[in-house]
Amino acid sequence: AKSEGRGTYHFFEAGMDATLQRRRTLETGLRDALANNGLSVVFQPIVSLQTNVVVAAEALMRWDHPRLGPISPVEFIPIAEETGIIHDIGGWILEAATRAAAQWPGPVRVAINLSPIQFKRPDLVSTIKAALEAASLDASRLELEITESLLLENSQSNIDVLLAVRRLGVRVAMDDFGTGYSSLSYLRAFPFDKIKIDRSFMADVATKADSRAILGAMISLGRNLGMTTVAEGVETAEQLAVVRAEGCTQVQGYFFSPPIEGEAMLAMLQAEQCN
Ligand code: C2E
Ligand code: CA
Ligand code: CA
Ligand code: CA
Repeated sequence: AKSEGRGTYHFFEAGMDATLQRRRTLETGLRDALANNGLSVVFQPIVSLQTNVVVAAEALMRWDHPRLGPISPVEFIPIAEETGIIHDIGGWILEAATRAAAQWPGPVRVAINLSPIQFKRPDLVSTIKAALEAASLDASRLELEITESLLLENSQSNIDVLLAVRRLGVRVAMDDFGTGYSSLSYLRAFPFDKIKIDRSFMADVATKADSRAILGAMISLGRNLGMTTVAEGVETAEQLAVVRAEGCTQVQGYFFSPPIEGEAMLAMLQAEQCN
């Protein structure tokens, strides 16, 4: 950068400063938020296409920074992963979400996202077990969502941890299915209970035959392997109709509901019980 002349160098440096500064602010802010109840959890309903009722809800983390306002998890989760804070905030949402789900009626499940970094701690399985016990939530009501980057490391120890989690009675879902390099080979590495088809595949399903064929093939694949299939990011009635016609099991997306506060989630489930 220096050879490009002083001006360029300074410009570049100033740009770096702003990015770095925001990162530092978010990093310390995240620790403060964890210590001072600054994090919250919202829930997005997942609806069965067989019964049209809410069968599960995905827990999603929210952070409202006191000065910068709401920060997307797309921005703060990677920072949490790089700094190791993910262990603490990951433990926090596990506790908060299982506690909330223990209030939900019937067999409605809660789905929680796990970062690959969380698998680096040997006590992950006992942390999950402890959270279930503290919340008095049956293991069968918890689903854990992982992305294939976890299996990308091809480490047997990650697979062993997943198997141990599954032996507790917890279900395991592959998140963002179809977006990685080798989604298919990972289906052989681990017995997933569920695949969540990434929302990028919903884009043109109502208008493009090729897109619909790809979606249909993913759904058939899941069904043939005995897995539950979830279509993520369903926003329109047209997309819903396609997903339903292709035989998908469950659906999640703005068409049915955006992520909502815990109280609203509980109210929705209680209202549904009365029907
Ligand atoms: P994800 O696990 O794929 O979660 C689904 C994301 O899609 C959520 O974004 C949700 O609000 C959004 N979404 C749901 N329905 C629709 C729709 O119909 N259209 C569109 N355009 N988007 C929809 P969100 O809450 O911003 O979370 C983004 C990502 O951050 C998540 O993607 C997940 O990878 C990560 N994340 C969120 N909470 C946690 C957490 O507690 N732990 C970990 N490790 N990661 C988390
Ligand atoms: Ca997810
Ligand atoms: Ca996803
Ligand atoms: Ca994602």
